[in-house]
Formats: sequence, C-alpha cells, structure tokens
Amino acid sequence: MSECLFCKIVKGEIKANKVFENDSVCAFEDINPQAKVHLLFINKQHTCNVNEMNEAEIGQVFKAIAEFTTSNNLSKSGFRVVTNTGPDACQSVFHAHFHVLGGEQLAGFGS
Ligand code: AMP
Ligand code: ZN
Repeated sequence: MSECLFCKIVKGEIKANKVFENDSVCAFEDINPQAKVHLLFINKQHTCNVNEMNEAEIGQVFKAIAEFTTSNNLSKSGFRVVTNTGPDACQSVFHAHFHVLGGEQLAGFGS
C-alpha cells in the first residue's frame, strides 16, 4: 500500500531504527516507547490488522519475535506482545503490527 506508513518503513522511504529483518518480517523501535524496550514487529506484506493475516503470516511474525527475543536476552526475563485491533483498542496505524515490550518489570493487568 503506497500510502501506508509501515509499508514506507519496509521500503526504506521513511527512516526507522530497524533491529530485525528477514524475507517476510521486519522489526523496528517504536517512536514513542512505552517501556525500556518497545519494538514493533510487522509482516512486510500489508494487512490492516491481525484478523486479516493468514496463518503463515502469523507464524512468520511470532517466529521472528521468538528468534529476536531469544538472541537478545529478552526471553529469559520476559516480554509482552500486544496487537491493538480497531477503535476500542486505539489502533492508530492500519498495517498489522505486534508491540514487543520488555527490558524492565512491566505492570501486571491487575496492578
Ligand atoms: P497502535 O496505536 O497500536 O496502532 O501502534 C502504532 C504505534 O506506531 C505507536 O506506538 C506509535 O508510537 C508507533 N509509530 C508511529 N509512527 C512511527 C514511526 N514513524 N516509527 C516508529 N514507530 C511509529
Ligand atoms: Zn502497510
């Protein structure tokens, strides 16, 4: 999608601090971090949200998250994956993306 912000980041037309890339997935730092580590994992192929992604795309993005968090010392201490979908969840960018938050103790849902 030519007007999509994250498609432009994939193509290198808008700069982002990329931390991971393979044939199908890339990840970059969120511009407005909500935790010490706050990354966005996306499929290079445009879909609007997780419900539009097929099984292969979901597998590719979670495999990338597993690879990255394992090789960057995040998986041992822990991390959180969030995907905001639609207006009630305040989704603001309509290219499916998975927030990976960690690098510090995160608040629990009950606290
Ligand atoms: P969401 O609100 O779940 O749709 O998440 C969109 C995320 O994209 C927000 O956390 C923004 O801070 C982030 N964001 C917006 N523009 C950029 C950008 N140019 N580079 C990196 N992250 C961005
Ligand atoms: Zn896109």
